[in-house]
Amino acid sequence: MSVYNFCAGPAMLPAEVMAKAQKELVDFHGLGVSVMELSHRSKEYLAVANAAEANLRELMGISDDYAVLFTHGGARAHFSAIPLNLAGADDQVDYLISGQWSAGAAQEAAKYAQVNRIDLRVGNGLEMTRAGEAGQGAYLHYCPNETVDGVAIFDEPDSDQPLIADYSSCILGREIDINRYGLIYAGAQKNVGPAGLALVIVRRDLIGQAQPTTPSILDYGLLDKHDSMYNTPPTYAWYLAGEVFKWIKAQGGVAAMAELNRHKAALLYDFIDSGDFYQNRVDPSHRSEMNVPFQLANPDLDAAFLAQSQQAGLMALKGHRSVGGMRASLYNAMPIEGVQALVAFMKAFELQHK
Ligand SMILES: *Cc1c(COP(=O)(O)O)cnc(C)c1O
Repeated sequence: MSVYNFCAGPAMLPAEVMAKAQKELVDFHGLGVSVMELSHRSKEYLAVANAAEANLRELMGISDDYAVLFTHGGARAHFSAIPLNLAGADDQVDYLISGQWSAGAAQEAAKYAQVNRIDLRVGNGLEMTRAGEAGQGAYLHYCPNETVDGVAIFDEPDSDQPLIADYSSCILGREIDINRYGLIYAGAQKNVGPAGLALVIVRRDLIGQAQPTTPSILDYGLLDKHDSMYNTPPTYAWYLAGEVFKWIKAQGGVAAMAELNRHKAALLYDFIDSGDFYQNRVDPSHRSEMNVPFQLANPDLDAAFLAQSQQAGLMALKGHRSVGGMRASLYNAMPIEGVQALVAFMKAFELQHK
C-alpha cells in the first residue's frame, strides 16, 4: 500500500530525494564518510553548499543584488532577526495580519521595533485594500500562505516600502518576481527539506546595519560576509535542500510545480465544494493551494475519519489544534496520485456515513 503523508510540517520530501540520500548516507561520493561527517570548510562540502545556492538562484531568478543565506533556527528565528536587521528600535514597521503566522511574526517583532498591525481579516476572507493603511514603516511584512488557516495572498501588496514575506509554506510552490521584495524567508520543513534550516533571500542594500544588540548568528550582514558559515551551518539539512532543488529543476522548475499545485488543489477543493458533507470556509479567492483545512459537517465523525484514513495510508490529516477538523497539506513533494487517493477515500467515507 502506498503511504501519502499530508503533514503540514515537517512534511514529506520527494521519494527520489529520500532514496538518493539513503544511497549516499554512509559513503558520500566514494569518500567513505557521510556528508554529515564532512567539515563545512572542506572542498567536498563547499561544492555541495555552492551548488545548492546556485540552483536556488537559478530556480527563483535571484540576482547578485540579493544575498541567499542558509541559516539555523527555522522561520521563527527570523521573526526576531528581521526587525533587528532592518529597523531601529524606535522605527515603525508595518505588519499585515492574515492568520496565525503573520500575527506571531508581528508579536515577536514588537520586542524590537514599533509594530503597526493592519488586520486584513474580515469574515472568511481578506480585505486587501486595508494594506493601503501601511506606508510609514521601515518595511511591510506579510505572509503569502497561512499554513494553519489555509489562507493565501496571491498578489503582492502594493507598497513603496521594502516588502518582507514569510514564504515558509509556499516557497518554490508558485512563481514570484523576487525583485519586488526586500526580503523573503522560509523555514525549510514545508517545501524545501528537513526542519531547522531556514532560507533568507535579502536585498544586499538593506543589510549591514543591524541593531547593536543583534545576536551575531542572526546578523544578516555578518552571515552574508561569511557565506552563511559564520558558525557551523546545518550541513546535512543544507545538503538535502540542495537535492530538493535539483529535483525541482528535473520536474521542470517552479513553473511546472506551480501548475501541478494548482491542479492538485483544484481537485480537492472541487470535490469539497461538490456536496455538503465536507466544508472549506475560506473565501475562494484566498484559498491556499498548499494547505487545505476542511471540516466534516458532522464533527462526531472526525475520529472515525482520522482512524480510517490512517488505515488507508493517508497520514496526518488531523487539523491544527487551534482550528480542529482536518487539514491536507499538498506541498511540491505530494504527487497528484496522493490527492486522487484522498478524494477517493473521502467519497467512500461519505457514502458509508451519509
Ligand atoms: C511553519 C511556519 C513557521 C514556523 O517555522 P519554524 O521553522 O517552526 O520556526 C513560520 N511561518 C509559517 C508561514 C510557517 O508555515
